[in-house]
Amino acid sequence: MRMITGLVRILIVCLLAILSRECIAADGPRQRSILVLEEADFRSPFYSEIFAGIRAAAKPNGKSHTVIYGESLDLARFPGPDYEESLVGHLKTKYAQRPIDVIVSIGVTSAKFLQARKQDIWPTAPVVYGFLPDLPETRALFLPNTTAVFARVRPAQLLIAARAVVPDLTHVVLVGEAWKNPLTYGHWKQDFAAEMPDLEVTDLSGAVLREVRSHVASLPARSAILTSAMYSDGEGTYYSPASALARVAEGANRPIIITSETFLGRSGVGGFLLRPEIIGREAGEVAMRILEGEAPSSIIPFSGNNVKPIFDWRQLKRWNVDEANLPPGSEVRFRQPTFWEQYYWHSVIIASVVLVQALMITVLLRERRLRFVAEVEARQRMSELAHMNRRATAGEMSVSLAHELNQPLAAILINAETAQRILQNPAPDLGEVRDILDHIRRDDQRAAEVIGRLRSFLKRDPTERRELDLNATVGEVFRFLSVQALTHDVELVAEPSPADILVKGDKVQLQQAILNLVVNGMEAVAELPDERRRVVGRTGLIDGNLALVSIADAGHGILAEKVTEIFKPFFTTKAQGMGIGLSIAHTIIEAHGGRIWAENAPSGGAVFHVSLPLAPAR
Ligand code: ADP
Repeated sequence: MRMITGLVRILIVCLLAILSRECIAADGPRQRSILVLEEADFRSPFYSEIFAGIRAAAKPNGKSHTVIYGESLDLARFPGPDYEESLVGHLKTKYAQRPIDVIVSIGVTSAKFLQARKQDIWPTAPVVYGFLPDLPETRALFLPNTTAVFARVRPAQLLIAARAVVPDLTHVVLVGEAWKNPLTYGHWKQDFAAEMPDLEVTDLSGAVLREVRSHVASLPARSAILTSAMYSDGEGTYYSPASALARVAEGANRPIIITSETFLGRSGVGGFLLRPEIIGREAGEVAMRILEGEAPSSIIPFSGNNVKPIFDWRQLKRWNVDEANLPPGSEVRFRQPTFWEQYYWHSVIIASVVLVQALMITVLLRERRLRFVAEVEARQRMSELAHMNRRATAGEMSVSLAHELNQPLAAILINAETAQRILQNPAPDLGEVRDILDHIRRDDQRAAEVIGRLRSFLKRDPTERRELDLNATVGEVFRFLSVQALTHDVELVAEPSPADILVKGDKVQLQQAILNLVVNGMEAVAELPDERRRVVGRTGLIDGNLALVSIADAGHGILAEKVTEIFKPFFTTKAQGMGIGLSIAHTIIEAHGGRIWAENAPSGGAVFHVSLPLAPAR
């Protein structure tokens, strides 16, 4: 039975050991203990942050482990000797088996409690006092074997903050119980007098919340509200200091200067603020030094670095406060980012994309323009060359042209002479004269046509696209060259397709291209025997959707490796050649969306093909 009880005990101990994070195995790091004695409720934001600071400072270091116990005295809300007596009894029982290595006492009330009751509960534990002002009255509370880290907002600092917010300050209103406590703000009257002798002060520290709210609703300009912690409304209802402040702020018509970081964001403008996490951390660090073996008496009480001027940006805007007026080293929180700050990266990315796009568009436009200029120049050059080419052709053909003109001119002359002779008769046959004159007119028209053809061939029109019949176009070229062909004794054979072939293009240009091919053909057969002196021009369709003109001769053909090269400018194999005829033809046909190529016919001789898109059907 006894054995079973023993086993159960061991089991319970082990279970507790597993459940408790603080429980350390016998051979693990040494366990030490800190008791945090807070004057108020641990759950309030201010005191819970102090506790968090102490916990952060007491992190395990591998060699030792620190257990932190915490007690809230809460004597402000639960006053009276009976509660205090029962609290002492409770703590004595609770900690009877738990040795405390160091006590961290938070707040003046805790210090007072320890002064009166420590001997009863923890007689030997050293003490670190935290969160209390450095005043003779507080130092008088210190027990032997203790040290302290002070934390205090000086009354003068409240005035400095108030004047930063209200530069022409003449009047302050004091709100909150702590103003009554000489151990919190000390002797604020002297401090205020030293800082601003003419300051008008309305002390509402004793007033109930209802009165405070109505008073602060109609304060004069040039005034500010200086708050300290407030726990009750004075009529039996208790608040957390933050929510009490929020209630005051609801109706206040003047800016509120606050004293704790935990009040920030609750309608207070800001001020020199106590920073509870740092207060806890500083006290915790001193407690750790004591746990490491330093004697408390060797650590001289010192002021912590736990107060900082901090302001709420939204409230600064509400009260039109110039940030330049804030005390040096001030921090401004809740700053709402400007549109630019908020969307900085979005804007940068969008701007970059737009910029890159704009650059690309500019580059593309520039290239387009350059290409356009180059095309215009090329067209211009092509047109000049074509013109030159035409004039050269015309020059060559002048003999045959003269011959072609000679015929009608000679006929006109003969007819005119005949008419003259008839008219010399006493009874001239006027009917015959009329016929002769008709002939003269017809011959004159023929001559005019020859000249007109030459003129239209030589003119340098800007490109004009018209629908034209390829059969007629090729036919005209053949007619135009007929005299030259006759002179060189070359047969020109036109084999037009039975139906019209309509294409869209510049007639003069297309005729120029075809003419160059026919002239080349005639030159290719010029030296050959009679039976080979012929050039055939055919028109037709490819697959029913492309127009085709083929100029074939029976000459020696083209060297196979030169069939593409011959279209390059200035390629010639002729002693007197310019090498531009085919390149001009090539340019013209490409400009019309067509294709030109050469091949050797199986029966001998070269064939030049020109394909062109058909004119869209109407
Ligand atoms: P050119 O007639 O002044 O030489 P072209 O550009 O008209 O210039 O012709 C280029 C070259 O192509 C000619 O020199 C010739 O070698 C070749 N060529 C053109 N047409 C024919 C053809 N029908 N038969 C054989 N070779 C030709």
